[in-house]
Amino acid sequence: MAHAQSAAATLTPAVVVAGSPELIGIEATDAAAIDGEWLGRKLEFFRGRDGRTWFALAGVDVEAPEGPSTLKISARLEQGGVRDLSRVVEIQAAHYRTGSLTVAPKFVEPDPEALKLIEADQQLKDKIFAASASEPLWTGSFRTPVVAPPTASFGMRRTFNGKLASIHKGMDFRAKTGTPVRAGNSGVVVLARPLYYEGNCVVIDHGLGLYTLSMHLSRIDVKEGQSVATNDQLGLSGATGRVTGPHLHWAVRWQGAYLDPAKLLRLNLSEVR
Ligand SMILES: [Zn+2]
Repeated sequence: MAHAQSAAATLTPAVVVAGSPELIGIEATDAAAIDGEWLGRKLEFFRGRDGRTWFALAGVDVEAPEGPSTLKISARLEQGGVRDLSRVVEIQAAHYRTGSLTVAPKFVEPDPEALKLIEADQQLKDKIFAASASEPLWTGSFRTPVVAPPTASFGMRRTFNGKLASIHKGMDFRAKTGTPVRAGNSGVVVLARPLYYEGNCVVIDHGLGLYTLSMHLSRIDVKEGQSVATNDQLGLSGATGRVTGPHLHWAVRWQGAYLDPAKLLRLNLSEVR
C-alpha cells in the first residue's frame, strides 16, 4: 500500500464565521497543481515556503449566510490523475453589532452630480478589482496599518441618519488626523486618489484577488503603479469622504468578499511565504 500523499485541507482559523479570512493549507507532495472553489469564488493555491504544503488565502464574505458550505478542492497529480480533497465547512453564526450614525446629508441622498461621481468611482473600482496580480505579492504576516486604538466595528449593521442601512465592511481605527498610515503588507498600489464615499483612498493589490483599502486619508503619499513593502507610509489619516469624524477605515477584500481585518492581522503567515 502506498502512503497517502495528501491530507485533508486545514483551515485557519478553525472556527469559520461570515467575515473570516481563512488560510487553507494542503500537504500534497505529489500535486502538480491544486484547483479549488468555495462559495462561488475561485481559490488560487500556491506552494508554501517548505515546498510541500500548498496554500490559498481566502475567506467568507461578511454577508454570507450561516450553515454548511462545500469547499471544493482537487489536486492534479504529477503522475497524472486527480485526487478529490473536497470537504464540508460549517459557517457558524457571527454576532455583529448594530448601530446608527449621522453624516452630512449629501452622503445619504447624493444629488445627480454626486451620483455621477459615485458611478465613475464604481467603474474604476470594478476595473481594479478585476485585475489582481497572478501571484501572491505579500510576504509574512499582515501588520496593523496605523498606531491608533482599533474598534470592533467590522460587520456592524448601521443606519445613516435613520435611513440608509448598510454593513460596515472594514475596521475603524481611532486615528487623529495626520497619523501615518502604512502598508499592511507588500504589494502594488493600484488606486491612490480621492473617491466620493471613501475620501482620499489607497488600495494595495496583494495578489491572487487580495486587496487592502485605506480610506478617509488627509494626504496620499504614494502613486498608482508603485510597489510598496510592509510598513511603507501610504499617507496620513484624516476625515475625507463619508465620515462622522477623523479615523482610518481599513478594509480587506478577497475576490469580492469583505473579510475581518482584525482576524487577518491575527493570522500567522510567517511560515507560509
Ligand atoms: Zn469605517
